[in-house]
Parts: sequence; structure tokens; C-alpha cells
Amino acid sequence: MTLDSVPQPNSPEARDIAYQMHPMVDQRRYEKTGGLVIERGEGVYVFDSSGKRYIEGLAGLWSVALGFGEKRLADVAYEQMQKLPYYHTFAYRTHGPAIDLAEKLVQISPEHLTRAHFTSSGSEANDLVVKMIWYRSNALGKPEKKKIIGRIKGYHGVTIAAGSVTGLPNNHRSFDLPLDRMIHTLTPDYWREAQEGESELDFSKRMAAALEEMILAEGPDTIAAMFGEPVMGAGGVIVPPEGYWAEIQAVLKKYDILLVADEVICGFGRTGKMFACETYDIRPDVMVLSKQISSSYMPLSAILISDDFYEPIADESHKIGVFGHGYTASGHPVATAVGLENVKIIEEKDLVGNAARLAPLFLSRLADLAKHPLAAASRGVGLLGALEIKPWETPNAAAAAVAEAMMEEGVICRNIGEALCFCPPLIITEEQVNAMFDGVATALDKVAAARA
Ligand code: PLP
Repeated sequence: MTLDSVPQPNSPEARDIAYQMHPMVDQRRYEKTGGLVIERGEGVYVFDSSGKRYIEGLAGLWSVALGFGEKRLADVAYEQMQKLPYYHTFAYRTHGPAIDLAEKLVQISPEHLTRAHFTSSGSEANDLVVKMIWYRSNALGKPEKKKIIGRIKGYHGVTIAAGSVTGLPNNHRSFDLPLDRMIHTLTPDYWREAQEGESELDFSKRMAAALEEMILAEGPDTIAAMFGEPVMGAGGVIVPPEGYWAEIQAVLKKYDILLVADEVICGFGRTGKMFACETYDIRPDVMVLSKQISSSYMPLSAILISDDFYEPIADESHKIGVFGHGYTASGHPVATAVGLENVKIIEEKDLVGNAARLAPLFLSRLADLAKHPLAAASRGVGLLGALEIKPWETPNAAAAAVAEAMMEEGVICRNIGEALCFCPPLIITEEQVNAMFDGVATALDKVAAARA
């Protein structure tokens, strides 16, 4: 079915409309159009209920690193369910899968990150990081140091605190967000925002100067941390310009402000290194991981912290008698067992290397597509990229039309504003990268012909 056809009575599509309320849709539109039922997956492909095959060019939600049919993850989940399907990590209890994954994450992450804490989603993780930062400031006797800086177009999830750090209007509007402790600095969108003749480095310096100005206006002693995705994802794949992270980190250091690297999309090889912090020479106090940590086969996220971040929190919990936070599913044994196996497979199959090896092809195919009359520009790093479509009279209609035409060609991507975003499974092959972008080229030609 297409998004504009009317579902048959009693079909899964009709029952879906009747019984389910979906995230991230216009509910009234959904009542009319319903959704596309995806029935099964295999490698980089998913199949809809009519049997039509699509290359999943966004890996689900930027997350299915191993593709849609990794049997080893299913086997590990089955074994863990039989051995110990559930146990918690509260109240001086622990279990093997959470210990093993914590150890693994500490081993593969930047050396100064020495402990892992588990949650179940990117939003939950970022929300908890905000709480940890507030707890830590209190522990340090700096109760006024609580403000958090996010960035316009940054995305850190949708829970109340994480959603407030997010800088996208649609995640705030009518939800009474953001909370007033959250403030937002500029988007490092060189392509859109650079001034005439401004170099990338000069642009980055201007971003850092704007950040410093904001810190001084708010009062440096009131600001605890800044959150940033090394490469912005849901804001439309915005790749940091030259020097950006070095300039930003220098300002944060000057004012004793923590840096939280949200690697929920970038982590586990997406940028061609295990973590984007390596790609961009970022030294975060906290690193947040999710999505590719388990290829999203199980809900899982992790917060990696430095000793310097941990110590005051540990002291405070000792003073109070407890770190009064935790979820029933914190470190869930099935999720952490699947996560560990997933990370092992990423290493065994050298999928980080695969992303690095295929990046030149991926980025050059995007750059070629940017020469199409409907397109305006391309950008990307590793296996994460975007093709910017020239706007039509109705905002965002152009990219939406191309994305829909791509579905007919058997390619799924995500259109965000005027950008078509690509983030395929890390197992993708050269042949499949070419097939994906051949489908995009055909879709662009068809949309151009229909408009002529
Ligand atoms: N952080 C980043 C960078 C993300 O891209 C996302 C989701 O797309 C989140 C956090 C929120 O993760 P979740 O949807 O699992 O809550």
C-alpha cells in the first residue's frame, strides 16, 4: 500500500488505525492513511506485507548495524531467556551479562571512561545524565551550577529532561518544553549558515564565540554541562565543520563545563571509527550509547563516565545512603547479553573497517546525486550522509516527494526538512550501496519528469 491509499476493512492496516496510537505522526493524518506494515527483514532489506523488498537506507532508526537477520543475536537472547530471563541490578544484586558488557564497553571506549551504567533508550540515558549532573553539582557544593546547554537542531530524545536538551521545535511545541534550565546554542550548519567567504574554521570560531557569549551572559557558574551529538543526526545529518569540536571544547574547559557526547547514532562504527569521539578528537566527560549497541534487537542504552564524573556522585550516594535512581530494566540480562554479542560481531566482521572502506564510495555517490537538477548539496562522514533537495513552494514537500518515489524504487530513507538522510546497516556491501543510490537516482529522475 502507499501512504495515500485507503486500508481495507479488517486488514492489519485498518486494525492498526483502530487500536494503536503511533509516535511521531500527525494522528489525524494517520487515521486516514495508516502506515506501511513491515513484515520481516533479512540483511540490509525489509519486506512489507505485500512482499515488496526495500533496502533499509536508515537502518530502521539509524540503529540496525548488523542488518535484520543476525541469527547469533536471536540465539543469545534465547539462551539467556532460558538461563536467567530477568534479574535486576538494584540493591546490591548483579549478574553476568551486565558485568560482561560493562567491561567490554570500558575496554573499547576512550581510556578515561571507566564505568558503564545501563538504561533502555537514548532518551532515558540522556535524562539520567541530566539528573547525574545535577546530583554531582550538589555533591560538589555548587547547587547553582545546573544549566545545561544543548544546540538548536540537536536531538537527545523526548523525555522531559532529555527532550528539553533537544533543540527541535516539534519536540517542544505544546509539551511545555524546554524546562527553563535548558538553553540552546547555535547549530554548526556551515552549509546553511556560513557568511559570504567565511572558511569552515572561521565559522567554527564564530560558533565557539557565540557559545562563550552565551555562557558569560548566563553566568559561567550557573552552567554545568553541554550536550552534543558529534554529528547531528535527527536535525538533518549536520557534519561538524573543520575545527568545530576543538574550538567548542576549549570554551567548555575555560569555564569548567562538562561535555556529554551523545553517540547514540554515531557510536559503534558509524563514522568509520568505533566512536565519533575518535573521529573528531572529542574528550567527553560522559558518553551516551544506544541503538547500534544492540543493533536495536533489544532496547538498550549505556552511559559511560570518567572517574572525575563518578567520584562526587559516589560520595554523595554514600552521604545520603543511596543513589536513588534505577529502572526495573537497568542492565536487563537479555538486552545486555544481546548487546555484548552484537559488539563482538561488529568486531569480528570488522564492520567499523567496512564503514571506513565504503565511506569514499558512499560519499562520492551522494556528491554525484547532488548534481541532479532537483538536488542542492550533499554531506556526510563514514556511512552517515544526507542529500539536500532544493525547496519547492511548500516547505519540505520536495524531499517528501523524492522519499516517496524512492519507496517505489525499493529504497527507504528518512526525509528531514529538505534533507534525505542515509544511514544504512553497517553490513552493507559495495554492490548494495550502489543499488541504494541507483534507486535514489531513478526516483529523482521520475520526480523531475513528473514536475516538468
Ligand atoms: N540521542 C540521539 C543522538 C538520537 O538520535 C536519539 C534517537 O534518535 C536519542 C538520543 C533518543 O533515543 P531513543 O529514541 O532511544 O529514546
